[in-house]
Amino acid sequence: MESEVGLPHALPGPGRLGELGSMKNVRTPVPLLCMAIWVAAGDGGRAADAIAVAPLTATARRAELRVLEGRHLVLATDRPPRPGDGVDDLPRIFDEAFACWCVHYGIDPATVGDWRAFGCLVVDRERFRAAGLLPATIPDFMNGFCDGNRFWMADQSNPDYRRHLLLHEGAHAFTLTLRDLATPDWYTEGIAEFLATHRLERDAAGVGRFVHAPLPARRGDVEQLGRIEELRKTRAAGVSPRLADVIVAAPGKHGDIAAYASRWAAVVLFARHPEFARLFAAAERGPLDADFNARLAALPGWDMARAAREYDAFIDDVDYGYDFDRLAIDWSPGRPLVAPAAAAADAARGWQNTGVALQAGGRCRLTSRGRVRLGTAHDPAAPAATPIESEADGISLGWYRGRPVGTLLVAQWVETATEPPGFRILGTGAAAEITAATAGPLFVRVNDAPGDRADNAGAYALTIAPR
Ligand SMILES: [Zn+2]
Repeated sequence: MESEVGLPHALPGPGRLGELGSMKNVRTPVPLLCMAIWVAAGDGGRAADAIAVAPLTATARRAELRVLEGRHLVLATDRPPRPGDGVDDLPRIFDEAFACWCVHYGIDPATVGDWRAFGCLVVDRERFRAAGLLPATIPDFMNGFCDGNRFWMADQSNPDYRRHLLLHEGAHAFTLTLRDLATPDWYTEGIAEFLATHRLERDAAGVGRFVHAPLPARRGDVEQLGRIEELRKTRAAGVSPRLADVIVAAPGKHGDIAAYASRWAAVVLFARHPEFARLFAAAERGPLDADFNARLAALPGWDMARAAREYDAFIDDVDYGYDFDRLAIDWSPGRPLVAPAAAAADAARGWQNTGVALQAGGRCRLTSRGRVRLGTAHDPAAPAATPIESEADGISLGWYRGRPVGTLLVAQWVETATEPPGFRILGTGAAAEITAATAGPLFVRVNDAPGDRADNAGAYALTIAPR
């Protein structure tokens, strides 16, 4: 229900948690948001022991609801069967996702073979209420709501979004009951989105199989999710929350759509960035309780200041196909420029530290030689793909973020009190006159979309000369 998301939610204070002891017994409303086309919508969830699914299944059958069963999900629905709507595939896809979630948390599937969730895919809520399958204690959710291993979701017109929503609620059910999850909201919501985001890949028999893709490679992989677009929009408007804001429980922000995209982004960063992935996975294998932030910060080797800057850099550049290994940034401070220095801009990588540092207002001239390869072009008449080559002024064959692909970009990381931290471009092209915006190293990169870098090759040879 829309009004719910704007309201502070009642997380118990630490004293109350202590009194209750076992997190399994804490039945605390935790409004969880499901992101239908980025219309804010509370879903909600409660940590609880898994309850028996068989009696609910029998109730659904008595009420003449359609019951679809997989190994780990029973789905009851009043949605009439419609050929090609994908609803019959949902329990099977849920089972495929379940296997992936077990891997994520290092759970041996053999130990949870009996685990089942009971989901209701609802067209007419009254029908479920009359059947006793939608208790009055469940809030009037807009898109979905999860309570232990039970969840309810409003039917969606888009099959892709229906499937995503089912897996989002399913991920809540999994973490709430199998991991006793009671973490701050950013992890609760972020991990549900992380675990639910997928694409379907057809196997040899033409069956669409679940492939976990927490950071989508292409826009079409995740129809109507819109998280990346939302992050870029808030970034452009200068209102992106900082990591410190994202990871604190901020009840007042429940209706803030950007805050939800940010939560997904924080989990993706920690789970995928080479600097954090191993440590984050270790934290995720430990208690997922209200102290999760403190546990993370206390991990040997975890650097929260570094995490904050990496988060800003990720949000600065976020796009489909973002690859943390390829785009990882070397933040070393660099050496003062006293004589012409050589550097390179590799077309396959993101921002690269030249090793040259300037003082604020310091000037240099950066010249570039050579060509890089930006993937290939396909001429149907030609036997083989033709390499696309560029020099440092770029080629207007394609554009990315307002500039031709292949253009050499020169930037510094700028943090001021008045604008969001990010890479500020100071010059472009084969001969760039640079005036430093701040004290710090110069970074370079070849302009291209993050998802298009994998098939790039070569580097521009750069000379950086003091002025
Ligand atoms: Zn949720």
